[in-house]
Amino acid sequence: MNKQIIIAANWKMNPSSLQESNELINNILESSNQTNNKIIICPPFTFIYPLSQYIKNSNIYLGAQDCYTKISGAFTGETSISMLSSLGCSYILVGHSERRTIFNETNKKINKKINLVINEGLNCILCIGENKNEYEKGMNKEICSIQLTECLLNINENDLDKIIIAYEPVWAIGTGLNATPEIAEDVHSYIRYWISNKYSEDIAKKMCILYGGSVNPDNINNILQKDNINGVLVGGASLDSNKFNKLINFKYNN
Ligand code: PEP
Repeated sequence: MNKQIIIAANWKMNPSSLQESNELINNILESSNQTNNKIIICPPFTFIYPLSQYIKNSNIYLGAQDCYTKISGAFTGETSISMLSSLGCSYILVGHSERRTIFNETNKKINKKINLVINEGLNCILCIGENKNEYEKGMNKEICSIQLTECLLNINENDLDKIIIAYEPVWAIGTGLNATPEIAEDVHSYIRYWISNKYSEDIAKKMCILYGGSVNPDNINNILQKDNINGVLVGGASLDSNKFNKLINFKYNN
């Protein structure tokens, strides 16, 4: 198989100090230049700038975990897209399930962020996925369809190349449970079908769709064997440089 694999890391609110963040990136840098996979790291806001200094001459792309819905102004505590861009971020995660559930982010708000990120010239990683209850009721595709419809409202087909979709079943995030490669592939192929229906087959073919949910060095091979899975979004395992280095150096093993 010959496809460009993306390995994206979401550090969430970790690690707990700048020193640990520097150590982690140093350990990752050592093996990042041995891979053709595309690596995106999304540290917390506070560590973006120091991290940008470490990765200057590397093949690692920098992402942020969130952004605000306005360009600038009196919004105490918030972070704008241009601030993130000026620190070297080229990707912004939007709609992560923790933002949706803990911080009450709606599809409407996520749609606003996607529009702004694109207008400001950056790329989005849009996270979608059903919760456990919805999964048990067999609603995974229906939920993805609703989230795609509302999050991509008024997004022009010319802008789809600035969006990566991450299918992250909420029940698989940080739980050690992961969707079987077959379940993930089934939803990924549905997402691709949804994109071809709404936009075009050509755009759907080029769409990059990541899987996220308890990915680790033991399960990545089976996950990435699937035709419609273009990469992974990794939480927990991205904080362990031994594990993450194995993930970023992933090569097909048939
Ligand atoms: C995530 O937070 O996006 C995620 C996939 O986490 P984990 O890998 O820990 O399940």
